[in-house]
Amino acid sequence: MTADVIVIGGGLSGLAAATKLSLSGAKVVLLEQKSILGGRTYSFTDPKTGDEVDNGQHILVGAYHNTLKYLDLIGTKHFLKRQSKPRLYFHHPQKGLHTFEISNLPKPFDITAAMLNYKILSFRERNKLLRVGLELKRWNEKLERKLSLLSVESWLDSLNQSEEAKQCFWYPIVISVMNEIPGRASALLFARSLKNTFLAKKSDADVLIPSVGQTKLYVEEAVDLLKKNKAEVITNAKVKSIIVSDGTAVGVDAGKKIKSKYVISSVPYYNVAQLIPKSYLNHIMFNELNLFESSPIISINLWFDRKVMDIEFVGLIKRNLQWVFNRRRITGDATKPENYISAVISGAGDEIHLTKDELVKMAVGELKEVFPECRNAQLTNAIVIKEKRATYSATNEVESIRPNPETPIKNFYLAGDWTNTGLPATIEGAIQSGFKCAELIAIN
Ligand SMILES: Cc1cc2nc3c(=O)[nH]c(=O)nc-3n(C[C@H](O)[C@H](O)[C@H](O)COP(=O)(O)OP(=O)(O)OC[C@H]3O[C@@H](n4cnc5c(N)ncnc54)[C@H](O)[C@@H]3O)c2cc1C
Repeated sequence: MTADVIVIGGGLSGLAAATKLSLSGAKVVLLEQKSILGGRTYSFTDPKTGDEVDNGQHILVGAYHNTLKYLDLIGTKHFLKRQSKPRLYFHHPQKGLHTFEISNLPKPFDITAAMLNYKILSFRERNKLLRVGLELKRWNEKLERKLSLLSVESWLDSLNQSEEAKQCFWYPIVISVMNEIPGRASALLFARSLKNTFLAKKSDADVLIPSVGQTKLYVEEAVDLLKKNKAEVITNAKVKSIIVSDGTAVGVDAGKKIKSKYVISSVPYYNVAQLIPKSYLNHIMFNELNLFESSPIISINLWFDRKVMDIEFVGLIKRNLQWVFNRRRITGDATKPENYISAVISGAGDEIHLTKDELVKMAVGELKEVFPECRNAQLTNAIVIKEKRATYSATNEVESIRPNPETPIKNFYLAGDWTNTGLPATIEGAIQSGFKCAELIAIN
């Protein structure tokens, strides 16, 4: 078998690269080591309830331009529900339920009004939230240099954000965007995400929630499109190494040898070294991969004998659970009661060692405190998914060494959410990186 381009890995970065290339006429072979595609975004049917369960609830925003383009290409963009005036609910243990609502006002008055109306905080604290917006508005190289030395926590401290403002507003957002605790997360990446989302086009701040399982949203139609464009999509195909001749990638060894003009790796950082010929491993680009670490996410899926929450999703303040999603409201399945909840703990370094029973007990206990309807409800089913290596840990140290797609091996490119996308480890970063590799190959 020969190909123009071999794509190693069938996560979103690999699927994006393969789709783009095959649409431009390249003969693509995509090799995925697992039996399913989608990588860290997949879903499965729970045999007990018949519900589609995601490996973790994913949230998108309007600023995910590459993701929207990808979904447009494969024809599944209509499965995203768009909130054009996002209303985020937050629940505080003493102050109860409050909203952070972005109005119809033009930018930047929409976000300013949302901050000033966020009544969990005192008026003084709400006013101080605006300092963050003012800082972002004066974005320039000097600010980027300052941010590249700070954690999110120290950046927020430098802008005089109170402990309450951090706990009740910033941290729930930081942890879900960065999948890292604020004391470790890179201020540069977080601030850039805020700027891209809230200070660009108004629709960039829209919240987009998938109404179907992730495999249906990202994978199934992509595979159909690839096959229509004569691409080969091969699962259970672990690539052992790339084949390099005279400094140029000429194919891969996946049990059998496959020749190609170009090779794209879209595997996570911890799988790259095994693909590279030993003679290249001391190159600084590959050597520095040892400095990357991972950060976990836990998803706790719970089914009760009755409806327990009456809103679509809510951020919990000062609790272990960070965001709680009403899955049936999200999927719009009117044939069943709204009794299926998915709760998320990102940056879950402290919780990852708890057993599944301990996590379920803790989650049910917190839900009972937040939702009165939950107090008399019986738990009927629980599925806990621990993604130990959900994303790379987005610290400043790692931000400065994330590699570009070009490598010291000619015609061998790197894609993946961990590469130098300028974004945190997200769907958007993954898809952007896949598209970038496709572009580089097209112009070569
Ligand atoms: C629980 C959870 C929640 C998340 N929530 C959000 C969210 O709300 N919003 C957001 O934007 N992002 C979120 N993310 C992050 C997002 O899912 C990832 O950034 C993205 O899916 C990464 O895609 P990727 O293609 O870079 O890597 P991967 O998905 O890891 O794909 C790499 C693929 O390469 C394959 N592979 C590895 N080695 C080989 C080999 N030798 N041969 C063949 N194949 C190989 C792997 O099996 C895998 O399928 C979340 C992630 C998790 C886990």
